Amino acid sequence: MDKKHIEYFEKLLEKENVYSDKAHLIAYSYDATRSKFEPDAVLFPRDEKDVSEILKYCNEHKIVIVPRGAGSGFTGGALPANGGVVLAFEKHMNKILEIDMKNMVAVVQPGVINKDLQRAVEEVGLFYPPDPASQEYSTIGGNVSENAGGMRAAKYGITKDYVMAIRAVLPNGDIIRAGKRTIKDVAGYNIAGILIASEGTLAVLTEITLKLIPKPKLTKTAMGIFKTVNDAMNAVYKTFATGVTPVAMEFLDNLTIKAVEETFHKGLPTDAGALLVTDVDGNLEEDLDFQLAQIEKVFRENGCNEFKIAKDDKEAAEIWFARRNASQAITLYGSKKINEDITVPRAVLPELLDRFYEIAEKYNIKIPCFGHTGDGNVHTNVMVDGSDPKQVEIGYKAIEEVFQVTVDLGGTLSGEHGIGLAKAPYMSMAFTPEEMNLFKSIKKAFDPNNILNPNKMGLNFDKED
Ligand SMILES: Cc1cc2nc3c(=O)[nH]c(=O)nc-3n(C[C@H](O)[C@H](O)[C@H](O)COP(=O)(O)OP(=O)(O)OC[C@H]3O[C@@H](n4cnc5c(N)ncnc54)[C@H](O)[C@@H]3O)c2cc1C
Repeated sequence: MDKKHIEYFEKLLEKENVYSDKAHLIAYSYDATRSKFEPDAVLFPRDEKDVSEILKYCNEHKIVIVPRGAGSGFTGGALPANGGVVLAFEKHMNKILEIDMKNMVAVVQPGVINKDLQRAVEEVGLFYPPDPASQEYSTIGGNVSENAGGMRAAKYGITKDYVMAIRAVLPNGDIIRAGKRTIKDVAGYNIAGILIASEGTLAVLTEITLKLIPKPKLTKTAMGIFKTVNDAMNAVYKTFATGVTPVAMEFLDNLTIKAVEETFHKGLPTDAGALLVTDVDGNLEEDLDFQLAQIEKVFRENGCNEFKIAKDDKEAAEIWFARRNASQAITLYGSKKINEDITVPRAVLPELLDRFYEIAEKYNIKIPCFGHTGDGNVHTNVMVDGSDPKQVEIGYKAIEEVFQVTVDLGGTLSGEHGIGLAKAPYMSMAFTPEEMNLFKSIKKAFDPNNILNPNKMGLNFDKED
């Protein structure tokens, strides 16, 4: 990058808010994909006005901008794949601006860490349910831009269900407001809805207003052990069909159970086809007991051999241990894990998993699966030997088939991690050329010079123009 641009940014933001030295550029060249793309500079705007000035300048000089939260994304959204400047919010734009108790909303800057917001609202008896496993470090700006989900999504939904309003800066520097602090708002296009999950490609989010709900007083945890994974998957959708909505309904398949047991020796049933771990919540003990009784009934009618209810927090933590450590444990099946977060309507889960295991058999590889079955979201892990190029090639062939089966069954390429760079090659499996062109038209309407996080989400303009 031309030195004059760095000088401009240093004058605008003060030197301490501009990094252009090698060590810092390397530090901001990664995310959780572990791919590496170095930016030309990292900028720390102090407020929305700074963001606006930066964008205006970059738009005039056709400098690429990549917004960045904590860099915990799994698909490369925050990576400066085309160089340019990274815009980071962790230094200054990281404040909870307001907790409005009367209307039950929180107003936050994009750099606020998810868990900090959860703690702050829980201190006053309120609840912000979206809880990605990265909650201790991922930011609300990143959560909104990826539409992050978490363990409580089955009952409480995902980030989009809590975004009421957004302030953002367009690539030309214009500041816009989208949405209101109202429960209803049907005036104009739903621009906030378009910005959610837009992965930093349309605008830079500068302030987010989030819905809060009252915090339920009680939670109980239970685990069902199933003969086959098919039985467990049937039990999932049948449970919800009874009208009981558990907070979480997570599963581990046989390969995952075996991996956790081999790694941690917790006495898990390695001959089980699957485990389902479930949480219910509410304010009355009797209500929770009723929910658990309903769940146990459905589980037992569907091949559950054993149903265990945790007596206290310690037992609940023991039940959750296997699920929380599944991702780490399955690495014993291969040095390279190609993990996807496909999502399908709950009722097709039994067929989906059958088809995944057929793919594993066809390629003679292991595909351990676990995840958020309560919302149809399966973490599908194709495990191969990363040092063997042939195995890696087989792994990617298998992944393509995993996506095809998912799309054929009415599912989506991503339930939570987004598209970014990693899944861009598969977008044409899920969307028609007409749908992709509509996405590109939206991108062009916001960002005609293609300076904001270009070429992510398969929105590669060069191909077309
Ligand atoms: C161990 C681990 C567990 C995880 N578990 C989950 C999980 O349970 N559920 C889940 O959904 N995800 C999960 N993730 C993925 C990741 O944490 C989420 O996608 C998260 O929302 C990313 O937040 P971030 O602050 O790290 O954003 P980043 O990774 O920095 O950025 C993500 C995207 O948001 C854009 N962006 C960031 N801030 C802004 C802004 N202010 N304006 C415009 N665009 C912006 C970036 O350009 C990028 O495209 C996990 C990741 C890890 C490493």
